Amino acid sequence: MTELPVFDHSAEPNVSRMPLWIRQSLGQDHFATTHQTIHEQALHTVCEEARCPNRGECWSRGTATLMLLGDTCTRACAFCAVKTGRPAVVDLDEPRRVAAAVQRMQLAYVVLTSVNRDDLADGGANIFAQTITQLRANNANLGIELLTPDFHRTQTQAVTTILDALAHAPGEQRLVWGHNMETVPRLYKRVRKGADYDRSLQLLAAVSQHPLCEAKSAMMLGLGEQEQEVVAVLDDLRQAGVQRIAIGQYLRPTRYHLPVQEYLTPEQFDHYANIARELGFGWVKAGAMVRSSYHAEE
Ligand code: SF4
Repeated sequence: MTELPVFDHSAEPNVSRMPLWIRQSLGQDHFATTHQTIHEQALHTVCEEARCPNRGECWSRGTATLMLLGDTCTRACAFCAVKTGRPAVVDLDEPRRVAAAVQRMQLAYVVLTSVNRDDLADGGANIFAQTITQLRANNANLGIELLTPDFHRTQTQAVTTILDALAHAPGEQRLVWGHNMETVPRLYKRVRKGADYDRSLQLLAAVSQHPLCEAKSAMMLGLGEQEQEVVAVLDDLRQAGVQRIAIGQYLRPTRYHLPVQEYLTPEQFDHYANIARELGFGWVKAGAMVRSSYHAEE
């Protein structure tokens, strides 16, 4: 199966060399245990598959973002390093192994994401639902955050399936349900082909209305967006009832992916954080290394 290039942007250079304020912190403490637990249970993480620059720090803190439904995505976003192609059959034992890994890692809060599975009739919603059930059966107080796809044509049914599982699982902790807008609508065709701005907003609006959920989204900046476009997305998210927002710097995972158009300064991220707070977001993280799952438990 071909991994890359899906699109070949290798001839397009980044806007400049990476500035000095973009640095990965490398920890040691729990890194080996996190690595061992994930691989013993044959699980995937977005930390590895998407080549997240924070892996050293997060894994050393004993956290990781587990990726359900395999390692192969049915879409091919031009910013993302996750493998694209025809996915393997659904692994029905995955929810059990996720629950075992979370127990072994003694997590109080877990973030679950998945590849897009537009090939499946349920979009993969049943695996999310079964994972919630298994996790809460082990620990009713576990904090769970989902970072889901838009579920394409099956969105309404997928939301119902997952929320039903949550309603029937033990525990009363609210679920944080994230879905990333990623960028401004003008850039969707280039950055997020196969996605639809309104469909993404629609998912977040549906989730935010549910009493057991808090909706979250994330954007990555530096792809050529204008400030007024970013503010318009933040405004749309608030209109949809979204409470949490993470804003980070786009970093090119390989030379085949989209080039960076701008490296934002720490002051620019502070500026966007202030705007987000003024718009009413209750949880705001903004900074070069911020990703939707970065310090999600805070
Ligand atoms: S920010 Fe998220 S995806 Fe990146 S290493 Fe940390 S947990 Fe993994």
